Amino acid sequence: MISRRKTRQVSVGDARTGVVRIGGDATVSVQSMTSGYTYDVDACVAEINKLAAAGADLVRVAVPEKKDTAALREILPRVQVPVVADVHFHFQRALEAIDAGVHKIRLNPGNISDRAQVKDVIQACKAKRLPIRIGVNEGSIVERRDKQLRMKELGGVFSANKNGHFLAIMVAKLEEYLEIFQAEDFHDVVISAKSIDPLLVVDAYKVISERFDYPLHLGVTHAGPKETGTIRSVVPLGHLLASGIGDTIRISYANDPIYEVQDGLELCYCLGLRDRIGAELIACPTCGRIQVDLFTLVQDVRKQLAKEIRLPIKVAVMGCVVNGPGECEGADIAIFAGDRRGIIYVQGEKVANVPEEQILEKLLDECRAFQAKVERGEAKLGEKKVDVLPPDPIGELGSGWEKIEKEKGAGRGLPVLK
Ligand code: SF4
Repeated sequence: MISRRKTRQVSVGDARTGVVRIGGDATVSVQSMTSGYTYDVDACVAEINKLAAAGADLVRVAVPEKKDTAALREILPRVQVPVVADVHFHFQRALEAIDAGVHKIRLNPGNISDRAQVKDVIQACKAKRLPIRIGVNEGSIVERRDKQLRMKELGGVFSANKNGHFLAIMVAKLEEYLEIFQAEDFHDVVISAKSIDPLLVVDAYKVISERFDYPLHLGVTHAGPKETGTIRSVVPLGHLLASGIGDTIRISYANDPIYEVQDGLELCYCLGLRDRIGAELIACPTCGRIQVDLFTLVQDVRKQLAKEIRLPIKVAVMGCVVNGPGECEGADIAIFAGDRRGIIYVQGEKVANVPEEQILEKLLDECRAFQAKVERGEAKLGEKKVDVLPPDPIGELGSGWEKIEKEKGAGRGLPVLK
């Protein structure tokens, strides 16, 4: 169990969308952001609802223009999750979004710094009891208008201690901004301090978590494509969450935001910070012992489980009996593959031995049946009924090598590796 840092708590949402709590003893929430234009009402509603259906607790939308905040009036009654308006440059957009009924505002001190304007937004949020995220970001933290100040700040950016310098600017600007909120006696605040550099993200949130007791929104800014952005995001966010720091997260990819939600949830599941919804899939990476097309099987199983299984059933798909028994003992449903066959177990009990082409359907049948039994109260998740006796790799599963050698001789190589 991770012991989490205690913070203040804010509430986001209303009776219709449900209220998401951030900070305090609330579960870590997962956010995402739409990638389309907010003023395109139907597309925006569809994207928000798609992200909500995937498990997003909150969805943020950009409101760069008046037509975007105007669209919120039509969007908000049609969506199922609290919506955050992301405001940059124009404080009026924040006031319009608040007026339209948005559930939370995000302000960036790097581009809305006028004290009177910030005060107006704070007062409008106070009147409607809406929280504000103060989000500093490496990309917009360095002064742009005041040339002298810019040169001074940039000097440090190009120094050997670049991260230490950025961190100092982030903390100073947060402190300065928070003074405005404290002067207005406004404390429904969430803080973020994002960078593209995972090490700076870790350092920034550690320092901020010691200085302020506001809940923290974790994220790596501009993490890039999913292929590389996953590691860039999960390393610092996982480290911080495992250290008890972080109350809400957004993983950001240059890709369909649905992946942000899926990976954010998976990160929380892996750390035991949320109760898993849907099946957990364990699979071996395969090696020279493999005798079925396990990669295809694993992907097919993954897709079907995501569609059909609601309960956190643990499913193990193992390429052979070497590690299979150990994994099988911790899984509700397991399969050991052999020579184009698979032996399927339910809570340790052997239930089928089928040829490769039937493994997927039989495994899914067993998952569906097991889910129904759990729902009827006839079985319990995670309960091992019998010790797993590994199948005989020569007998029940067949060695396969003889057959493979024959096929190699016929110039066909190892047919299972496509
Ligand atoms: S389970 Fe078998 S096939 Fe899979 S990686 Fe382990 S030894 Fe290789």
